[in-house]
Amino acid sequence: MQSHHNDSTAQQLAALKQVCNTLGAYIFTKDLQGRYTYVNLAVLQLFNKPLEEVIGFDDTQFFDLDISNHIKKNDHQVMQTATAINTEETNYIKSSGEQRIYQTIKSPLFDDDGQVCGISGISTDITIEKQLRDLNNEQKQLLDTVLNNIPASVYIKDEERRFLYANSKVSTLFELPITEIIGKFETSILPQEMAAHFHKSDAEVFKTNSIQRIEETVSDHLGRTSHYLSIKAPITINNKRALIGFSTDVTELYELKEQFQQQANTDYLTNLYNRRYFIEQAEREFTRSQRHALPLALLSIDIDHFKHLNDNYGHPFGDKVLIDISELLLQGTRREDVVARIGGEEFAIILPNTTQDKGIFLAERIQKKLQNHDFSVTCDDLKVTVSIGVTVLSGTDSCFDELLLRVDEALYKAKNKGRNQIMYL
Ligand code: GH3
Ligand code: MG
Ligand code: MG
Repeated sequence: MQSHHNDSTAQQLAALKQVCNTLGAYIFTKDLQGRYTYVNLAVLQLFNKPLEEVIGFDDTQFFDLDISNHIKKNDHQVMQTATAINTEETNYIKSSGEQRIYQTIKSPLFDDDGQVCGISGISTDITIEKQLRDLNNEQKQLLDTVLNNIPASVYIKDEERRFLYANSKVSTLFELPITEIIGKFETSILPQEMAAHFHKSDAEVFKTNSIQRIEETVSDHLGRTSHYLSIKAPITINNKRALIGFSTDVTELYELKEQFQQQANTDYLTNLYNRRYFIEQAEREFTRSQRHALPLALLSIDIDHFKHLNDNYGHPFGDKVLIDISELLLQGTRREDVVARIGGEEFAIILPNTTQDKGIFLAERIQKKLQNHDFSVTCDDLKVTVSIGVTVLSGTDSCFDELLLRVDEALYKAKNKGRNQIMYL
């Protein structure tokens, strides 16, 4: 029985040694003075020493304790408090000059009387994991900094319309903390109308599986209008389809663009459209009217003897006349008519959906209004008159230029007939 028991103990001990040597961790015991009483193979390899040069020696032999004396402190703590600790230790290994980071569990060892007689330890090298974790944290922080400081809303949504990510701009826009956004369905955190609006282009991203560029105008409850440029792209997260969106508030740029466009289309003196814009719109109207077989009238209006007016009353007064006549022309026309100053003292009006009769009628009305207009000048013998050419789209016209030539010809005739006339061609 006795020998059988011994055999079994020896076997168990051998098995335990094998386990210790193959565990992939550093395993050791130390006495109260910190001298090693047992080390596994991994420790010997780490110290690069044979067993007899390790057992009975303390850590001053193997680690640079000037740099990392917390090993000693931890040992003391375990022995003094008789409780185990689970902690991270950074060790400087003398044999290789390397710094390694370990996750270490140190436990007190007790003798037969229940007194602490040393410690046991098991350390796992987590140097690489720790480096990766640090790098990961650093990169996450960097990414957060970038995402929360770019002047755009950045968000990730899954196909069920759940937010997987939102940056601080989104939080400001929705007036919700980020924690109230991430993980939530847009339908449950946003006003119905807003959610429906977002979903339109989101659905397009999933349907086409391609990047969408969306220019959108959003009005808030105070009636303020903002313009957004959104880029939405399909992505895959955790093997699930999702989309990432970047929405930039381009209101300022949009308004600037509008302003430039308006300036480029407008005559600075009268605020009427300029010649360039007039031709552009007239050509469009020409094509449209032709396609739908709708009438289209064109008026060309030229101030009579304007040169004399300038000479007799001065250039600034001439300008005032131009401004007054512009106002007069605008008053007599509809929204869809395009009134432009196409030359120094020359105006043109394109009139969609207007027949010859109506065109002539408008010309007469302009003449009459001008007759009755008070230019508020001291002498009352001032007479400002205009000559007007009228024409309409005919079946044989192939381009707008033909109308323009014809209306000029009509105007020329009106001048020749003694001015202050309306001529139709
Ligand atoms: P007609 O009856 O044949 O049209 O004679 P007109 O004097 O009106 O025509 P003309 O083409 O000989 O002269 C046009 C004048 O318009 C000459 C020019 O100095 C003046 N003019 C052009 N642009 C402006 C402007 O912006 N302001 C002022 N005050 N005058 C202008
Ligand atoms: Mg003139
Ligand atoms: Mg002229």
